[in-house]
Amino acid sequence: MSIPVIESTRAARRALHRVPELSGEERGTAEQIAQWLSAYHPEQLLTGIGGYGVMAVFGKSEAQKILLRCELDALPIQETNNFEYRSEHTGIAHKCGHDGHMAILLEVARRLQQQPMDDAQVMLLFQPAEETGTGAAAVCRDEKFQALQPDYAFALHNMPGYPMGSVVLRQGTMNCASRGVIVTLTGKTAHAAQPETGRSPAPVMTALIDSLAEFSGRFGKNGLALATVVGAQLGAKAFGTAPGSAELYVTLRSQTDEIMQAMLAEIELQLTQLCAQYELSFAIAFEDVFPAVNNTVEGITVVAAAAESAGAELIQLSQPIRWSEDFGHIINTCQGALFGLGAGERHAALHNPDYDFPDELIDHGAGVFMEILRQCNR
Ligand SMILES: [Zn+2]
Ligand SMILES: [Zn+2]
Repeated sequence: MSIPVIESTRAARRALHRVPELSGEERGTAEQIAQWLSAYHPEQLLTGIGGYGVMAVFGKSEAQKILLRCELDALPIQETNNFEYRSEHTGIAHKCGHDGHMAILLEVARRLQQQPMDDAQVMLLFQPAEETGTGAAAVCRDEKFQALQPDYAFALHNMPGYPMGSVVLRQGTMNCASRGVIVTLTGKTAHAAQPETGRSPAPVMTALIDSLAEFSGRFGKNGLALATVVGAQLGAKAFGTAPGSAELYVTLRSQTDEIMQAMLAEIELQLTQLCAQYELSFAIAFEDVFPAVNNTVEGITVVAAAAESAGAELIQLSQPIRWSEDFGHIINTCQGALFGLGAGERHAALHNPDYDFPDELIDHGAGVFMEILRQCNR
């Protein structure tokens, strides 16, 4: 990747698309972004935030601190597109459009250099490791970030399936909470001819799977609740041995963090009771933990006004989006919102091998963000 100065933010997007990097490994992307940003002469240019995070700060004023966020990471997906800027990294590609989100913030940086804002400090955060749900939390723990705690934070995500350029918004939960749960059950193996002398995890595993199937009804009265069994491992293909251990992988998803806590408490309660009954021990571990993204009233008011000024169609969602976003960590401590930017009704879906970010959203997305900055200063 070597475009020392951006010829255009479209060219930058395509340059980023060629050399995608996985979550937590975005070293080259971060170096390139920092190099491009330095050409716009921000007041501060911070690197190594929560991993490979980069942040450019424009404006000296302490009056209002507004953060705009995009993501650095790509996905472990083999690209099937054949255009000339296709991914050069086997098995890795920008299939969530984070290359486009970065290009949008580069365009915002370019405009901020040309038209500085007098009464706001604007922080452009290029966040690492969004796809694994670890990046935003790591950024929030970083002292360099804590020293600049924003008053407002906004982020956008392109959304295939919605009209090109529309602004998609919801008050309250925009994106659901989710987390991967790993349940480990430990008993004792036995000869398969004498299974009664061992302690097989099978009855606990099946009882828990049956119970999880009823979580939607039990916990979904005040919003979405989903427990999806994504994998299970019991014993091994060894016909002389009754199993002594098992693992169960479950993805929990919920409209609110409270529903998530209730589901987790129920899993723990059931395991405690069942494992006592069958003389097993258990452990619970988590991966890919995403809190719900809770848009604030002030945040969505700003975005709605900005969409109108930018001439974008505004679509209010009645239901939250099921997929998760780790931006929830960032707006938990300030005003703000995450909104969708329609990528076209017939556009390939996110995380699909033929997906590609639509370049026409770069200028438009930057325009909406610039309006958001102005609206915050009203
Ligand atoms: Zn994604
Ligand atoms: Zn994404």
